[in-house]
Amino acid sequence: MSVYWNERVRRLSPYVPGEQPRDRKFIKLNTNENPYPPSPKVIEAIGRAAGDGLRLYPDPACTELREAAARRYGVRPEQVFAGNGSDEVLAFAFGAFFEGAAAGPVLFPDITYSFYPVYAALWNISFRTIPLTEDFSVNVEDYRTPAGGVVLPNPNAPTGRALSAQEITSMLEYHAPYHKVVIIDEAYAAFGAESMVPRTNKYPNLLTVHTLSKSASLAGLRAGLAIGNEELIGGLCRIRDSFNSYTVDRLAQAGAAAALSDAAYYDEINRRIIASRERVSAGLAELGFTVIPSAANFIFVRSPRMGGADLFVRLRERGILVRHFNKPRIGDFLRISIGSGKEMDALLEACGEILK
Ligand SMILES: *Cc1c(COP(=O)(O)O)cnc(C)c1O
Repeated sequence: MSVYWNERVRRLSPYVPGEQPRDRKFIKLNTNENPYPPSPKVIEAIGRAAGDGLRLYPDPACTELREAAARRYGVRPEQVFAGNGSDEVLAFAFGAFFEGAAAGPVLFPDITYSFYPVYAALWNISFRTIPLTEDFSVNVEDYRTPAGGVVLPNPNAPTGRALSAQEITSMLEYHAPYHKVVIIDEAYAAFGAESMVPRTNKYPNLLTVHTLSKSASLAGLRAGLAIGNEELIGGLCRIRDSFNSYTVDRLAQAGAAAALSDAAYYDEINRRIIASRERVSAGLAELGFTVIPSAANFIFVRSPRMGGADLFVRLRERGILVRHFNKPRIGDFLRISIGSGKEMDALLEACGEILK
């Protein structure tokens, strides 16, 4: 606490991101980054953008990037918003579409992306968490109840479990007559979940959020998207332009547009990650682990023989960094990102030795 902080800053409890070590070389399986490099076309596009043009402000409307996204997803550019990573897009969406207690609480799971309660607190939004079932599934019926809105990652994080588009549709239909927005955070959808984007025209209360950080190997570039009806996109623009009109720089706009235009490259590397996920899931199950079936680029696992905190430390000693959440219900689990084949071999070997 500081005497200089105002009431708002005192009240905040900020998100704590996964460790980005700078001192020693780890096998880094803790923040769901993609082990493969970005498409060579992305690097070329950033190179072309890294010139004299940097004197000038970037296009505040991110026109080329939004056009590339529109082509990729089969929507109109007016249905696309681009931001500085999807965390920014989500923060803007909370500010644009959700409200205090009078509008009813926003619903999201008790075990989910831990940034959601942080955004809610930042904007004074009331929320209610809904427990996942015993096996970490989302029960759709729980979300068909009066509320200020819904936010849900699909697949969910950190569990990796996915809902079908049909199940999400039933939430959209429930909330549509009340004009309540349902945000589907598809950070990991490219690794195995059905995207809601094709339903954009049908459900005006649907906002689908994408990031280039995971499936496009661009966590370092900071680019995220929202896809939804034009009125929702307009709301996001009003928040952005009351804050900073240039959140996506020239290099990020160029790189992200090139990534969205190279589906063939990314389909191939993400297919490899999916295959590796299945191999590692089977390997850990063989070692006695409980492995939640994952549709993402990470797995959520528990060893019956060692607690999550201990296993985290033992892996770290061996130079392998994973994510442990010291929270109710999931303290014995570890979230392990799917790295390269070699990295995953090292993980399996380390787990085998630690649990011997
Ligand atoms: C990683 C992640 C994000 C944030 O992605 P950025 O675009 O890097 O900000 C959003 N939602 C979920 C569920 C994530 O795991």
